[in-house]
Amino acid sequence: MIPRPFDYYVPRTLPEAVALLSEHGDTAKLLAGGHSLLPMMKLRMAEPSQLIDLGKLAELKGIREAGNEIRIGAMTTENELIWSGLLQTQCPLIVEGARQISDPQVRYRGTLGGDISHGDPGNDHPALMLALDASFVLVGTSGERVVPADGFFLGTYMTLLEPGEILTEIRIPIPAAGSGYCYAKLKRKTGDFATAAAAVTLRMSGGTVADVRIALTNVAETAFRATGAERSLLGKPIDEQTIAEAARQAMAACAPVADLRGDVEYKTAMAGEMTRRALATAFSRAVH
Ligand SMILES: Cc1cc2nc3c(=O)[nH]c(=O)nc-3n(C[C@H](O)[C@H](O)[C@H](O)COP(=O)(O)OP(=O)(O)OC[C@H]3O[C@@H](n4cnc5c(N)ncnc54)[C@H](O)[C@@H]3O)c2cc1C
Repeated sequence: MIPRPFDYYVPRTLPEAVALLSEHGDTAKLLAGGHSLLPMMKLRMAEPSQLIDLGKLAELKGIREAGNEIRIGAMTTENELIWSGLLQTQCPLIVEGARQISDPQVRYRGTLGGDISHGDPGNDHPALMLALDASFVLVGTSGERVVPADGFFLGTYMTLLEPGEILTEIRIPIPAAGSGYCYAKLKRKTGDFATAAAAVTLRMSGGTVADVRIALTNVAETAFRATGAERSLLGKPIDEQTIAEAARQAMAACAPVADLRGDVEYKTAMAGEMTRRALATAFSRAVH
């Protein structure tokens, strides 16, 4: 299908983009990589009267180290994440996750900021961001605020972003040396969204779990942290029994919707299996 007509704006600076968004209000949409928005426009599920293209905003690009954080511009593409030497060495979980997103065509255009802002429970970055304890910089006419990923995803296509706000930067604390990590994703074929996926970061100390974060994709109305599973592991060794209990706790927190990828029971079981695999791999990569 063909989208309804719209006016197209290409701001050159962030203040210009913020002003355009505030001028047009609810009838405008920001355009990043377009790989979620344009399909929705073609299906007439989104019918913006104005598209504000963020593609020329150099300040929304790039990956850099700042103290104990990595800061990533919202317009950084999946491929730029994958090719980043800084991320490969300091934060490989995000690289592992981005590599599993769709296909090369989507990864060349799709952006980290777009993937997060869209609020799709099937997108992979929300769970990765929860596992990495990321925070997001949101800029609007009343200034800038920094919000944690935990609490940002409110529901399907709903986030903490207020109308008129732009996600400009993603901040990720550099994981402690020796941390384990894994993104385990089950999908039916290349280019498909997850049937279920689990993101894990893990730090061991003296043979037991000192810190763990577990977040799940596409098994509820939004990505979420499996806090019961995390609590069940703290202070314990990682072995078959503790992993099985964590997977059980993660499954108990799932509320998937049945669709072509499977029924509720199957998706819940796969969320448990992805949790089990992600924990086992994260443990094998952690220093302990
Ligand atoms: C065939 C196919 C398969 C896919 N498979 C996967 C997958 O397996 N995993 C996955 O994670 N994704 C998948 N995607 C989605 C893809 O990763 C999208 O690129 C991503 O969801 C949105 O990023 P974008 O840059 O394309 O944003 P756009 O489509 O341009 O925008 C998406 C939404 O976010 C808003 N927005 C964008 N940037 C900002 C910003 N900086 N601040 C505020 N709002 C903003 C837009 O207004 C729009 O509402 C798939 C897409 C396709 C077409």
